[in-house]
Amino acid sequence: MVFNSSDIGAFNDIWVFCEQRNGKLENTDFELISEGRKLADERGSKLIGVLLGHNVKDIAKELGGYGADKIIVCDDPALDVYTTDAYTKVLCDVAMDKKPEVILIGASNIGRDLGPRCAARLHTGLTADCTHLDIDMEKYVDFINTSSTLDLSKTKFKMEDINLKMTRPAFGGHLMATIICPRFRPCMSTVRPGVMKKAEFNQEMADRCEIEVYPVSISQEDIKTKVLDVVKEAKQIIDLIGAEVIVSVGRGIGKNVKEGIELANELAEAFGGGVVGGSRAVVDSGWLSADHQVGQTGKTVHPKVYVALGISGAIQHKAGMQDSELIIAVNKDATAPIFDCADYGITGDLFKVVPMMIEEITNA
Ligand code: FAD
Repeated sequence: MVFNSSDIGAFNDIWVFCEQRNGKLENTDFELISEGRKLADERGSKLIGVLLGHNVKDIAKELGGYGADKIIVCDDPALDVYTTDAYTKVLCDVAMDKKPEVILIGASNIGRDLGPRCAARLHTGLTADCTHLDIDMEKYVDFINTSSTLDLSKTKFKMEDINLKMTRPAFGGHLMATIICPRFRPCMSTVRPGVMKKAEFNQEMADRCEIEVYPVSISQEDIKTKVLDVVKEAKQIIDLIGAEVIVSVGRGIGKNVKEGIELANELAEAFGGGVVGGSRAVVDSGWLSADHQVGQTGKTVHPKVYVALGISGAIQHKAGMQDSELIIAVNKDATAPIFDCADYGITGDLFKVVPMMIEEITNA
């Protein structure tokens, strides 16, 4: 199989690596498919989902209902549980054969492991942890016209080739860096979970979507590790990304941490069942576990209601919650930056304000 990552003109289609665990699709699949659909429509190319696993043909059919033109299924016992070697081998085999222009992978634990391995094996670049993706032909033409380092005579790309702009936070979130991969294909990106809008299921799309079963070729020599056992984490993980209401606490609960967290729980309950999140200050202090953290190094969320209690609103916290539909902030400092992105701001002591909010909501 001939594969040359700098033969730009040979590459087509937008791919999404669809992650599944124990036969269950991950939320990032629906987010990446919706984002991939947008890019494919702008580009005028096909959107293809690639699903690896064992006995996953049924979930491939389900996946087809979210907007991909085709799902490529690689089904093999060696892909039952994720291993770096097996997944890298199979995903790269299919990519070398079919030559996609773009591969999007969720920045989950699996995606962060798989993406760079595949990029290295495919001799291309990867932009990690992207929060925004875009195709911008005009800027691309400007770039190649003005770049002093890019020798056009040595590259084979055409003007109509895609320029995928991959944007991610840099320098501790103080600036957003937009990165392109002009000389090699596929353009690869891992995408931060919870940032892109999710695609909705549609039966007509499911009926239209083509399913291609790709023959997997993998041997024991390809796999250098062996999974002996899979141990599930005993503690309950908070589903911040799927929650409709999140009540987050910050260092402002410091004078009585236990009462602060109880109040946040009660307020979340009063909203009809929300979950409690927290700032990094709260997680670093050990007041809440890491799965509660919202922000740049925590989860990116966009619930219907986000309540920030005693959170100052540092840029790294806002990066994870500012796209929430409705933001309510309680802070005793009227100049706290959290109020800049809040729809409703209450200046006051959270220990006095929150019981009043609970009473109002309960009696409403
Ligand atoms: P503080 O900034 O200390 O704010 C506490 C607030 O509580 C103050 O505004 C105060 O006025 C208010 N307050 C105090 N008492 C009360 C009271 N009784 N009633 C009402 N208000 C009260 N942070 C995140 O949250 N998430 C991240 O993912 C994240 N990632 C980071 C990544 C990097 C690379 C870096 C450098 C930092 C990151 N941070 C992150 C940390 C971030 O910069 C802030 O330090 C952190 O968000 C501050 O948390 P806080 O708002 O709870 O605490």
